[in-house]
Amino acid sequence: MSEGELVIPVPQEWASRAKMNAAAYEAAVQRVEADPEGYWTELAQRLDWIKFPTKIKDVSFNREDFHIRWYEDGILNVSVNCLDRHLAERGDQTAIIWESDDPHIHTFMTYRELHAEVCRMANVLKAKGVKKGDRVTIYLPMIPQAAVAMLACARIGAVHSVVFGGFSPDSLAGRIQDCDSKIVITADEGLRGGRVVPLKANVDEALKECPGVTDVIVVRRTKAEVNMVPGRDAYYGDLKQGVSDQCDPEPMNAEDPLFILYTSGSTGKPKGVLHTTGGYLVWASWTHEVVFDYRPGEVFWCTADIGWVTGHSYVVYGPLANAATTVIFEGVPNYPTNSRFWEVVDTHKVEIFYTAPTAIRALMRDGDEPVKKTSRKSIRLLGTVGEPINPEAWLWYYKVVGEERCPIVDTWWQTETGACLISPLPGCTPLKPGSATRPLPGVKCQLVDADGKVLDGATSGNLCLTDSWPGQMRTVYGDHERFISTYFTTYPGKYFTGDGARRDADGYYWITGRVDDVINVSGHRLGTAEIESALVGHEAVAEAAVVGFPHDIKGQGIYAFVTLKADVAPSDILQADLKGWVRREIGPFAAPEAVQFAAGLPKTRSGKIMRRILRKIAENDTSNLGDTSTLADPAVVDDLVQNRVG
Ligand code: ATP
Ligand code: MG
Repeated sequence: MSEGELVIPVPQEWASRAKMNAAAYEAAVQRVEADPEGYWTELAQRLDWIKFPTKIKDVSFNREDFHIRWYEDGILNVSVNCLDRHLAERGDQTAIIWESDDPHIHTFMTYRELHAEVCRMANVLKAKGVKKGDRVTIYLPMIPQAAVAMLACARIGAVHSVVFGGFSPDSLAGRIQDCDSKIVITADEGLRGGRVVPLKANVDEALKECPGVTDVIVVRRTKAEVNMVPGRDAYYGDLKQGVSDQCDPEPMNAEDPLFILYTSGSTGKPKGVLHTTGGYLVWASWTHEVVFDYRPGEVFWCTADIGWVTGHSYVVYGPLANAATTVIFEGVPNYPTNSRFWEVVDTHKVEIFYTAPTAIRALMRDGDEPVKKTSRKSIRLLGTVGEPINPEAWLWYYKVVGEERCPIVDTWWQTETGACLISPLPGCTPLKPGSATRPLPGVKCQLVDADGKVLDGATSGNLCLTDSWPGQMRTVYGDHERFISTYFTTYPGKYFTGDGARRDADGYYWITGRVDDVINVSGHRLGTAEIESALVGHEAVAEAAVVGFPHDIKGQGIYAFVTLKADVAPSDILQADLKGWVRREIGPFAAPEAVQFAAGLPKTRSGKIMRRILRKIAENDTSNLGDTSTLADPAVVDDLVQNRVG
């Protein structure tokens, strides 16, 4: 470790408890090199197969004979792996803790109950004519029926496409059309932060553009009066009357599709990422076990919505495959108060807590008190995913939330990767705030320059993966050519992630942001994460986003959008102070030309900053902002345009 750098060693109790300790990690890394076939075969043994695969891996990233196949002659069913196989020993264990938006209401569902409910919904779908391979759109709030619907599809071999309940009718319609689903599962209304989300009304609006949809199944959440179209719409509660709670699982080939999921759209039009059955479940469940050092029965809470891949892999599939007690949270971090997360932790004795930097930064903005008044004693491990986490936010999470007791796993991955690829392992990896640390065993990372030249040692470059892993996406639904051209053409023969990264002398990776967002100031290539981290390190700043804009002399100048902490007022002095601060923290070349104070930043509905819109504002080219359909709050943009500086 280099001198002066903050490194947090692996706590002794973790080193002795964890299955994946330093020795096990090294052994796995060596094994996958020496005997990949054996290594990947063993990984597949964690699942129950109807027919265990004999063909383990068959992959080519080259355009001429492009294909990705894992466990291709294996046969299994995902819902059996998430439910049936736990019944004998853990039928009465809680599978799902549901914490509603209202802090006084929560429910528990055992594995036996969940199994019965999944079978019922599977039978309802079958009665509607849904068959293996059919696409089913799920547009539900964070209620147990969301997981039930996903697993019911998996049980009968239907391919689900979950659309986040925060999406507009237009976005929903686009996703229904893209995968041509004939059936939509929704709720009357959702509830988030005390506000009603008119899900059924949104579906009605969306379906005006989707004549192919023949059936809408409506789960009653709020019991509000909603419009029901005769012959098309029916309440789930009515449909399931008298339906059997047994349903034979469909035997699925490992390479049969499990789900389609549209990416969050930070960089452009969302892609219908397709994942298949065997490899995905192997990877989701294995990473859930090793990254979180998970033991069956522990209470695991991932705060992501099931509309995102994080919700797929770490609310539903990974945890349930591992016989976890998983928390489904309907609400938001600041309702009814900004202590809500920690109160839920205390109520349900959550042991592992996994959230996103955007939530951490928002809570940090309100200070320590809302955290400190709760106990949090049950937590032993913290996790983060979704964006680079600034060291400042990391340290706040570590010190204030985790009281320096709990390691943090900063997990880097993508919708496309199915589950984690780069992450610390709590019993093995010394932590550095802001670094996702090292690739998991079997994950082959490489940094290349713009021309594709491979860069060795401590360096910065574009992050590629030179070989496949079981959880890799298989295609863009309906557009295989887009899959190959998006990911395998920039650097032929490699999967290009679209992200930039720095690798330090210890081989640790620091994700610097999306390569498209890199700023080139007088020949210095700067990642957005580095400058933003410097800004967030200033005591007045809550959140920051920087972009480049054309500059006559430097090529690009830096434009910073900054939101301030709750109790700080904007001023010219502060503006100048922030420029000077970055100059001192990073260097004169990194000092922003412009600093704009903002009430909020444009984010995707999954909470990621959309820099491509900020870039347009900085360039003063606001006539065409591109696809803004995935923005959480379009009003933020008008405000930013009006208050543009310079
Ligand atoms: P689109 O691909 O449509 O633009 P998106 O990339 O935001 O959307 P996701 O697949 O949800 O959709 O996000 C993956 C991206 O999130 C990664 O490529 C990376 O940029 C960022 N990311 C995720 N986890 C981390 C992390 N731990 N550290 C840094 N960046 C992360
Ligand atoms: Mg992406």
